Amino acid sequence: MTLNQTLRQRLDERRRRNLYRELKTLAAAPGPRALVDGRELLTFSSNDYLGLATHPGVIAAQQTGAKLGAGATASHLVNGHLQVHRDLEGKIAEISGREAALVFSSGYMANVGTICALVGRGDNVISDRLNHASLIDGARLCGANSLRFAHNDLDGLQRQLQRAAANGGNTLVVVDGVYSMDGDCAPLAGIAELCRRHDAWLMVDEAHGFGVMGSPQLPLAGSIASAGLGQDDAPVMMGTLGKAAGNAGAFVAGSRELIDYLVQFARPYIYTTGMPPAVAAGALAALEVMQREPERSARLQRNIGFFRKRAAQLRLPLVESASPIQPLLLGDEAAVMAIAAELQQRGFLVGAIRPPTVPEGTARLRITLSANHSEAQIDQLLTALAASLCDYSAEAP
Ligand code: PMP
Repeated sequence: MTLNQTLRQRLDERRRRNLYRELKTLAAAPGPRALVDGRELLTFSSNDYLGLATHPGVIAAQQTGAKLGAGATASHLVNGHLQVHRDLEGKIAEISGREAALVFSSGYMANVGTICALVGRGDNVISDRLNHASLIDGARLCGANSLRFAHNDLDGLQRQLQRAAANGGNTLVVVDGVYSMDGDCAPLAGIAELCRRHDAWLMVDEAHGFGVMGSPQLPLAGSIASAGLGQDDAPVMMGTLGKAAGNAGAFVAGSRELIDYLVQFARPYIYTTGMPPAVAAGALAALEVMQREPERSARLQRNIGFFRKRAAQLRLPLVESASPIQPLLLGDEAAVMAIAAELQQRGFLVGAIRPPTVPEGTARLRITLSANHSEAQIDQLLTALAASLCDYSAEAP
């Protein structure tokens, strides 16, 4: 068979199983609205949790940042590291309560680069089964023994830590702080305690925790801080700038030694063009707004509470989640696609998530909330959702 025939066959198989991924092209996305096929839709699918992607001050800072050059023009270690990157790293370190931080061009690269720099052949990497794809790919690529435990299962983690000790080498435990498709948090206090007992290093992906939760001292630092933990408990903290910060890129925050080490050994940091200065300037401005306008995260928390209360009144099948990620587990791929399409007809955009992004049999609608949503908008979504679910079960064979 030719290449194209082979690919066609694989694509047809994906379509047959209701798993084909459609690339939706938005004409504009001035959140929480998006223009799709000439229609304005209300979006409940973006990760712009604090509404900073459309903040006028952030956009102005990004435009000013572009005057430093449209691109960084080289990798960070050659001539692509500008003062604005350093300023951004300083602000991230301050918000996360860490000694230092290092900016990467994407979260995917930060995760793969960090895991591969820290462990390799002869070592162990232990992952939660629902870890983000970039963590899974890092664990595969690094060449260490890859061990997994059932989602949030501390006994399972303990068993894998014992196996890792028998294997020898260093052990890195990697978890999401907030799970991207489930919205639940890792039991970080228990995980950190097990890591301490077994001499393992803990890395936490704060992609969905940074800017959204924290402690009284570090209100924006993420789930590690919100669990009452710090740098000694979870020495490797990764976060992204494309979600609550509404921009793009990512970072690792930790000790001075960790950051110095990653500059030397994290290949996706070293061998790629630096983050465009405009992005760094925009992200820095977004972090400053986060600090200056704590009412944004307060509004987000109120929206989460309102959504859950109304959804419970409508008897919608919610899962346990205190984060802005509120999935509705339907299980069946065809149902997820049909209900997402009907919601779009009714003027709402929600994520339709199917395997292999989530395990078989756990297809879901992924609803995400933002500080920019009003209670009236959330109410409209829930009313439409209840009606769409009702229509679907009436029509289902
Ligand atoms: N980790 C998690 C938990 C994520 O949800 C994502 C983004 N989907 C990433 C890492 C990757 O981040 P980025 O989009 O910056 O590559």
